[in-house]
Amino acid sequence: MTNQEKLQQVIDNDLCTRCGSCVGLGKGSIEFKDKTGRYLPGIKGQLNAKDAKEAWSACSGQEVNFPALDSFLFNGEGNHHKYFGTYRELNIGFTTNFELRRRCGSAGVITSTLIWLLEEKMIQGAVVLGMSEKEPWLTKPFIATSKEDVIKASQSKYVISSVNELLPEMEAFHGNLAYVGLPCQVHSIRKLQKENHPSVKNIKYIIAPYCGLNLHFSSIKSFLRSHGKKNYKDIADIKFRHGEWPGNMRVEMKDGSVFQLPKFHSNYLIPFHMMKRCLVCVDVANEFTDISVGDAWAPVYEERGKGFSIVIGRSEKGVEILHKMKEEGIIDLIPVNVEDTVRMHSHMYDNKKRGAFLRIRKRRYQPDYNLPFPEGIGFKRRFFEFAMNIIMAILRTRFVTSLVDILPSNVVGKTFNSFKIFWKRITYTTKRKDL
Ligand SMILES: Cc1cc2nc3c(=O)[nH]c(=O)nc-3n(C[C@H](O)[C@H](O)[C@H](O)COP(=O)(O)OP(=O)(O)OC[C@H]3O[C@@H](n4cnc5c(N)ncnc54)[C@H](O)[C@@H]3O)c2cc1C
Repeated sequence: MTNQEKLQQVIDNDLCTRCGSCVGLGKGSIEFKDKTGRYLPGIKGQLNAKDAKEAWSACSGQEVNFPALDSFLFNGEGNHHKYFGTYRELNIGFTTNFELRRRCGSAGVITSTLIWLLEEKMIQGAVVLGMSEKEPWLTKPFIATSKEDVIKASQSKYVISSVNELLPEMEAFHGNLAYVGLPCQVHSIRKLQKENHPSVKNIKYIIAPYCGLNLHFSSIKSFLRSHGKKNYKDIADIKFRHGEWPGNMRVEMKDGSVFQLPKFHSNYLIPFHMMKRCLVCVDVANEFTDISVGDAWAPVYEERGKGFSIVIGRSEKGVEILHKMKEEGIIDLIPVNVEDTVRMHSHMYDNKKRGAFLRIRKRRYQPDYNLPFPEGIGFKRRFFEFAMNIIMAILRTRFVTSLVDILPSNVVGKTFNSFKIFWKRITYTTKRKDL
């Protein structure tokens, strides 16, 4: 099979992560046509052999060799955990800048680290994801070179975005870069670095978020429809985590109307609009970064509000940055142990480190992570997987999705949240068993 055929197979069989690398490296021959639709890359005509080879070697859709990337980056140093990867330090962290902490996705650690690296002149630019000024309903990756631009790009965007489309700009950039991206995007960057590809030579640090899953743009359209609005082009501004942690999904329209819903309630969009590819992803904690940052989902922090993050220092340089920032009072860090680190995201580890392997086995076209099938997945856990599949299939029927679109989002959100709490309770023991 040629490299172009392999790429096409990834696209045709729902393995594409939409990282954007093939589009970035394709010199105009590969493009995303429908960013508000399925958001899939389309290959125009016959690629030349070199471009196809490069695009395939960067593709994070099918082959991501976890052990090989881990030894390339960490060389067996540090500790390794089967759920969250190689680490040197585990902390709960937050920025000491109150305004930033409130503005950012969880606790502003990523944004303050990027600003600090710029101010220390350790980098000259940061690859980040902002919102488009021209089309404010779409995200837009760019290289931020000032504090103001880094802050503009703060906040989690829970919608498919292809940061690696920017590879040609990263290559042409004069100076060191920090890079922020989801696990699938980071997989591609690390694959390219392993191959010594020039497009990633400027990337010196990867500071990036955990990721459970991502959503199609249809989630935004559905949210609008449930508020009686049909045209997404009337959107003036979208925030996915607006206000006090954990924040609200908030959409402001050009006519001044504002719709918002607490984050836990807006999670009702997940079963209807999640990317299917995320169901076979096995990386929660962004395992190949220098520093990974996620929400600290634990009652002790959730009760306090304000925003707390789990911060994993993986590489030597990552840990060094964290220590210096703490010494200078830019961030605060409180050590946390392995058990609490797992407990905070146990539902996601169960989902990606067990559930994803069960789902991979059932697929004809499978991603290959070169990882063994996890031991000890009992009958009850398999049964929950089966039950979940049935529930998802019902939820994704045209009848249910259309119904959800016309019902008020606050009603659906509240109902969903109650069901989620109930489901978590009945699956708690099984899902956490032996984690
Ligand atoms: C799609 C998605 C799913 C996530 N799932 C989980 C989860 O299940 N559990 C969990 O604990 N945490 C999850 N997170 C991480 C969490 O939402 C916060 O991003 C993280 O805790 C960092 O917070 P912060 O305040 O330090 O980030 P900020 O300081 O607000 O900085 C966020 C940075 O992330 C970049 N960014 C935002 N969205 C994207 C995107 N879609 N693609 C690439 N880069 C982006 C921005 O450019 C910005 O630089 C997810 C994030 C995303 C984007």
